[in-house]
Amino acid sequence: MKLLAQAQARLPEFGLTEKVARNAWNAADGTRARVATALRTMASGIERCMYCSESLGTAIDHFEPLRLAPHRVFDWYNHLLACSFCNSHAKGGTFPKDTATGEPLIIDPTADEPARHLRLSLTSGEYHCLTPRGCATIDVFQLNRGPLRKGRLDAVGQCLDTLAGCAALLAADDTAGAQKRMLRLRRQPLADVLQELRRIADRPSAAVILGDEAAVEALRALYGQPVAKPVFIPQQTSRHQPDCRSWKSASAEG
Ligand SMILES: [Zn+2]
Ligand SMILES: [Zn+2]
Repeated sequence: MKLLAQAQARLPEFGLTEKVARNAWNAADGTRARVATALRTMASGIERCMYCSESLGTAIDHFEPLRLAPHRVFDWYNHLLACSFCNSHAKGGTFPKDTATGEPLIIDPTADEPARHLRLSLTSGEYHCLTPRGCATIDVFQLNRGPLRKGRLDAVGQCLDTLAGCAALLAADDTAGAQKRMLRLRRQPLADVLQELRRIADRPSAAVILGDEAAVEALRALYGQPVAKPVFIPQQTSRHQPDCRSWKSASAEG
């Protein structure tokens, strides 16, 4: 984005502090608006937060906080759309890093494959951690907070109801009607629930898990985009507990 490059070029060459970077960011109204517009079109559902996918994304989050990386203030790859809870309340300036590698411990939803680190349980609505990074992400963003869990369970029911409806429409040769319903479903908050259903639909046991062969077929037919196969398929899901410390031992911030 040209505006970002221009804003970056105006930053002082030496002695760039968090404060200077933040002031430059706050002064760049036009640039901020363009970044926000671009991020909104990339977000799931209708402009949802890229971390929790539940609430409206109302803020631009600097993935690597300005406190640690003032030079990345106008870096396109450092911008994410986030809700105010995830951005200000949960994450704030927190940015744990792996002490051994220096890599960020929280997942960048635009660059990482979240399925490698996290697994969503459709029966509890909770995220389970598969890696220390998944664990850190659950903790920092409080991904298992009550309202999110409840919302996900409701979304599972809503998805299954709509899919049964889609299956009936497909059986009656009303493909357009079924596609319209599926589109509505994909624009709902909590797109991660639908994504997890889609992931399960590729398994032979999908009909048993989801309880309805026709709904599974409808999901496969209508979802639209193939799901990327995770490179690393974990054998076992470990339940994320409040005292789960697997990321904390790797983190400098403790
Ligand atoms: Zn959020
Ligand atoms: Zn954990």
